[in-house]
Amino acid sequence: MLVWTHDRWRFPLPERHRFPLDKYALLRERVVADGTATEVRESDAVPWQWLESVHEPALMRRVRLGELSVREQRGLGLPWSDALVERGRRSVGGTVEAAALAVEAGLGMNLGGGTHHAGRAFARGYCLFNDVAVALWRLRGEGRVRRALVVDCDVHQGDGTADLLGPDPECFTLSLHGARNYPFQRIASDLDVDIASGTGDDRYLSALAEALDHTLPRARAEVAFYLAGADPWEGDRLGRLKLTKAGLRARDELVLDRLLDEGIAVCVVLAGGYAEDVRDTVDINAATAAEVARRTCAL
Ligand SMILES: [Zn+2]
Repeated sequence: MLVWTHDRWRFPLPERHRFPLDKYALLRERVVADGTATEVRESDAVPWQWLESVHEPALMRRVRLGELSVREQRGLGLPWSDALVERGRRSVGGTVEAAALAVEAGLGMNLGGGTHHAGRAFARGYCLFNDVAVALWRLRGEGRVRRALVVDCDVHQGDGTADLLGPDPECFTLSLHGARNYPFQRIASDLDVDIASGTGDDRYLSALAEALDHTLPRARAEVAFYLAGADPWEGDRLGRLKLTKAGLRARDELVLDRLLDEGIAVCVVLAGGYAEDVRDTVDINAATAAEVARRTCAL
């Protein structure tokens, strides 16, 4: 399988910050060692004009020039730097490429992306740009798809995606998340499923199956974006759910199989994951990649 990465573009972070900057290179090495990825490409930075087509141009100007207010900086949770911005643009580029491959070949994956807390006029929760909204805007601009679906299984609610794509009549937004997790002020998705703290594999998987039953006939999507967040894992520092690694793998299989059975092209992105030991997050992301690769071969 061909995947995209931007792991060489790093940015300055304070010591012991929770953002898992090391995860991306470890994951690339792992999927190559596993034989999951037969080709890894480095994604280009998307042009500012693309970002301004989705996000408020005044916000993009503040991001570009490092002029975010103190309040915006705090909400973002990552210190601004040129390197941070460059990396963010490359992360979006990977999702744009993976989405184009998905529409061509059925499946695509970016070893990054899923920055779902970025909305039209806000950049917060470690998310500068909304890669999924930009990728969908590109696919539509090229006349390749109209109807889309977002299946957001990160443990945090996809408020930025809901802000950008919730009102879109040709895009269905589904978010399954910890009821008591960030963000505490929500923006409504087309379907939000609140999962109680401490929920384990079985109850989570049945809620997910039910949500997909509701969603698929309504979405009638040509392309889906799957945010395979690793943070519903029981050991996650920011999540409050209790899924095992096997449960997360079953989640990936369920989502991929249901979407592919419907003939929907699927673009997979990583979203969050904040295990104490970054290797646990890498295990979970690598398992997702393996499930994508297995189905890529079968297409
Ligand atoms: Zn998250």
